[in-house]
Amino acid sequence: MKTFVEINKENLLHNLDTFRNISGKPLMFVVKGNAYGHGLKEIVNLTKDLAGIEYYAVDSLDEALYVKRLSQNKKILVLGWADREEIIDLIANDIEMVAPSVEYLEWADTAARTLNKRARCQVKLETGTNRLGMTESQLLEVLRERRFDNIDITGIYSHFANIEDTSDHSYAREQLKRYNDFLDKIGNRRLLRHFSCSASTLLFPKTYFDIVRVGISAYGYWPSKQTYVTYLETMKRPVAENGDGARQPISLKPVLSWHTHVAQVKEIEKGQHIGYGLTYRTFGNSRMIVVPVGYYDGYDRKLSNTANIIVNGQSAPVRGRVCMNMFMAETTHIEGVNAGDRVTLLGSADEERITADHLGEWSGTINYEILARINPRLPRVVV
Ligand SMILES: *Cc1c(COP(=O)(O)O)cnc(C)c1O
Repeated sequence: MKTFVEINKENLLHNLDTFRNISGKPLMFVVKGNAYGHGLKEIVNLTKDLAGIEYYAVDSLDEALYVKRLSQNKKILVLGWADREEIIDLIANDIEMVAPSVEYLEWADTAARTLNKRARCQVKLETGTNRLGMTESQLLEVLRERRFDNIDITGIYSHFANIEDTSDHSYAREQLKRYNDFLDKIGNRRLLRHFSCSASTLLFPKTYFDIVRVGISAYGYWPSKQTYVTYLETMKRPVAENGDGARQPISLKPVLSWHTHVAQVKEIEKGQHIGYGLTYRTFGNSRMIVVPVGYYDGYDRKLSNTANIIVNGQSAPVRGRVCMNMFMAETTHIEGVNAGDRVTLLGSADEERITADHLGEWSGTINYEILARINPRLPRVVV
C-alpha cells in the first residue's frame, strides 16, 4: 500500500475506557466527520460491542444509515441539520434526530404523520453558542403545548461555545447555569439530558448529566492546550478546594497514524529551486525525497516549507510547496534513504513523533481539522 492510515485498536479502547472511568456515565461516542478522519466503518466495527457506548452521534442522514447498517444494537443520534426529504428518511428508518428549531419540528411532525410513524427528536436549548438551537421561550412553548402529536421528544441538550479555547471558564459556567435553570423550569420530565463534550468531561463533572458526548479525546487528543493546562491545575488543587472533585492523572493515546513511502530520491546541487512557485532554494548540495501525498489527501498546502515528516526514524523538513498529490522533503542529513522506504506524516517512529497538534500548529489550525480532513479514500488499516 502506497499510503495508508493506521488505526490502533488498543489505544482507542484505552481512551474510551478512560472516559467511562472518569465520567461514570454512558458514552455518546461522536463519530461525525468520518469518525474524525479515522474511518467510520473501522471505528464503528471496533466499538459496536462495547457496553459503555450507548449512542453514536453523527452529523447526517447518510452517516446515520451507514452506522445503523454496521451496528444494530446501539442508538444513533443525528446532531446536524437535515432537510425535509432527509427528515422523512430519518423517520422512516427510525433514527433519532436533533430538532434544532420549531420549523424543524413542524417538518418532522408532518413527515411522521404522512408515514404513520412517530418521530423521535431531541431538542437543543440555545445557551450561548448561537449555532443550532431554540430559545428558552420557544422551547418552553414546545414542551408545554405539546403541539406535535407525532413526535416523541426524547432528550434535551446544549453545547459549550467557549470551553476548549480558553482557560477562563466563566462563559461555560453561565451556559451551564442557563441549562440548569431551564431544567428546573420544565420540572421532572423523562428526557435524556446532556451537555458535555470532551473538554468539559475532562474538566467539569457538573456538566455530565445523563450521558457525555465524547469526540476528539476518544481518538486520543486533548481538545486544546488550555484544556490540558486546566486539567493539570485542577489536579494539583486539594479536593476540598476543587468543587468538582479530585482528578486522576490520565493518559490519552492517539489512535491514528499516517504513513506513506519514498517515491524518489534526488541529489540536488546548491542554489536549485524546489517545486511550484520556487519557494525553496537549496543552500548547498542537498538530497531531497519526493513523497507521494498532497493536499488532495488532506496534507494541507499550508504545510509547505513548515512541516516535518519522519524518514528512517529521523525528522525531515518539507521543502517547497505541497502539491495536489505530492511534496518534497530534505534528507541530506539522513543516511541511506531509498525509494520505497517508510515515511511517517503523523505518528511516531523511533524517537521521533508527529501529532495532529504539531500539524495543526504548523498549518494554523486545530488537531480536529487535521484529522477530519484526511481523505476518506485512503485505506484505514486496523492494528
Ligand atoms: C462535535 C460535537 C461534540 C464532540 O466534541 P469534542 O470536542 O470532539 O468532544 C459534542 N457535541 C456536539 C453537539 C458536537 O457537535
